[in-house]
Amino acid sequence: MKTVNDCNFNNKKALIRVDFNVPLNNELKVTDATRIKAAKPTIEKILNDGGSVILMSHLGRPKGKDEKYSLKHIVPTVEKVLGKKIKFIDDCIGEKVEKAAKNLKSGEILLLENLRFYPEEKAGDKAFAEKLAELGNVYVNDAFGTAHRAHASTAVIAQFFDKEHKCFGLLMAKEIEAINYVLNNAKKPVTAVIGGAKVSSKIDVINNIIDKVDSIIIGGGMAFTFIKAKGGKIGNSLVEEDKLDLALAILEKAKQKKTRIHLPIDVVAADKFSNDANTMIVDADDIPDGWMGLDVGPRTNVGNAFVIIGSNTILWNGPMGVFEMEKFETGTRELGNAIADATAEGAFSLVGGGDSVAAVKKFKLTNKVSYISTGGGAMLEMLEGKKLPGIEAILM
Ligand code: AMP
Repeated sequence: MKTVNDCNFNNKKALIRVDFNVPLNNELKVTDATRIKAAKPTIEKILNDGGSVILMSHLGRPKGKDEKYSLKHIVPTVEKVLGKKIKFIDDCIGEKVEKAAKNLKSGEILLLENLRFYPEEKAGDKAFAEKLAELGNVYVNDAFGTAHRAHASTAVIAQFFDKEHKCFGLLMAKEIEAINYVLNNAKKPVTAVIGGAKVSSKIDVINNIIDKVDSIIIGGGMAFTFIKAKGGKIGNSLVEEDKLDLALAILEKAKQKKTRIHLPIDVVAADKFSNDANTMIVDADDIPDGWMGLDVGPRTNVGNAFVIIGSNTILWNGPMGVFEMEKFETGTRELGNAIADATAEGAFSLVGGGDSVAAVKKFKLTNKVSYISTGGGAMLEMLEGKKLPGIEAILM
């Protein structure tokens, strides 16, 4: 994989697609700079070579030009993270931008305005991509979070650069390597933990990893579709009735491939979807009517920890329960702690997907896992075995 480390940027203008889609508060201040910090190594490498940098990103989902989504709001944070002044221009194509790009000197950074102010960005418009391409001599993609989108700046643009003039940023390379390692070269035993609300959103992942991993721990709301499919009583728990056959097919495939699937054996059942619900611990396949399973139970937690501690590689996507509510956070917290313990013992752990990353942060485990992916959707598609447009475009 060709990265910025394989190129010399002396006197070059690097056009970098970054993912600066960061959260802003009501005062339009950045509340979490993780994504900006993640792009720093790539930017620094280029500047240290004697190159200049043009940064392009989207922010939010604006419908046309909208001040609220201007990237000008993130300038102070970008300057703080990079430790230097940057230039900002209130457009991303056109004469003004071309002039600013042309006048950019070695060591300087120019941030363009939100790409999604133009509908052409999401439409993957070729003429728009070409205008962006004209701003720099080398195209660098470091936006893993949007690598599964065939947008103008994430994929289409790459066709205007030959193989010598395009490469991956360091963040993107690290993300791809981490996921490829887990899928293809991981030290066994490999365990995947798949949780969250719905089977339907994770079905392709489970199908793709079933013959690549040794065990799959299934938790969260999606577990009940499996439990019901096996004939269990799930009360009012979340279920996707139209996925019962699919769940059975997965269990059958796992049996054939000799992949162990661990479903919850007990749950925290609640009489309503609320933090002040009445709760009781019951067997996962014997939940009374009117009650719903909102977290995995204590026996399941012990079993899950046992599987995790015995693993050399762990992939975690999706919570074990409604961890946003204190009453139902234990399963997710204990799972996170077990992954942290296994990591401390030498296992490689990869966490991805918005909710698992939020859980890792909530339980203060950020520094106790090996790698946290910055791109939930992109990671899921890689785990599904799909080719990502943002990656393919650089390889072509
Ligand atoms: P997903 O986006 O599919 O990964 O789902 C994450 C969401 O699933 C979180 O907001 C959890 O609160 C929710 N969740 C986890 N377990 C359950 C459950 N047993 N019942 C209902 N929702 C759940």
